Amino acid sequence: MWNKLKWHIQRFMIGRNGRDELELAVFYASFILYILGVWLRFSLLEIIAWMGLLYSLFRILSKNVYKRREENRRFLQKVQFLKLRLSMRKTHKIYCCKGCKRKIRVPRGKGKIEITCPMCGKKMIRRT
Ligand SMILES: [Zn+2]
Repeated sequence: MWNKLKWHIQRFMIGRNGRDELELAVFYASFILYILGVWLRFSLLEIIAWMGLLYSLFRILSKNVYKRREENRRFLQKVQFLKLRLSMRKTHKIYCCKGCKRKIRVPRGKGKIEITCPMCGKKMIRRT
């Protein structure tokens, strides 16, 4: 009985996206939002959580596997980028150039230094 059900589910899932990292992230975020919504008695959070759960279900059942894979790949890229930025916070400080608004990364712990913007050449003195 159990094996037959498993077989049916497996057959049903052929050609569908199934679970992936983006789906799992949406699922857990929705779960947390739902608990927060119930706990704070804030129904908007619950509604958002339900939408998140529906989206996660949509991803699992979606037959447009190519598009879902592409979305997941972009999501993983963003996560990787954020992780890299977070790890850089410990060793580097980021300043915004007043001339061109470009972000400049300088190593931490070098005392007061003069920073020259590589884009527009504007100079500023900052503590690192
Ligand atoms: Zn600049």
